[in-house]
Amino acid sequence: MLNLTRTNFNSIKNKLLRQKQKVEGELRELDKKDPVMLDGLAESSEPGTESWMADVHNQVVAVKQNLHALLSKIKKSLVNLKTGKYGKCEVCGKIIERARLEAMPTATDCLSCSKKAFK
Ligand SMILES: [Zn+2]
Repeated sequence: MLNLTRTNFNSIKNKLLRQKQKVEGELRELDKKDPVMLDGLAESSEPGTESWMADVHNQVVAVKQNLHALLSKIKKSLVNLKTGKYGKCEVCGKIIERARLEAMPTATDCLSCSKKAFK
């Protein structure tokens, strides 16, 4: 069991909630930038508009995929916080360093496992 004090628990939870809000806001903003989501542009007959739209749309889709992946990590961390599973390394089962969780609340592996993963 990870022995987080109430204060630390709350600060990590608040960080996750703030991050969640930010990501959700960014996703909403991205929808506004996606020309495919906007009415009117599709009827433009300017040459090159269609390929420009496809380019921008593809960029928006790529960024959204990253944000959705991050969002699901945040949601998973919040669920783990509730169920008491939070802070345990998914690779080796050890407790994740608190400094690492403070810096990256969505971390699901400990420092040494994450270093191994990047080698
Ligand atoms: Zn580990």
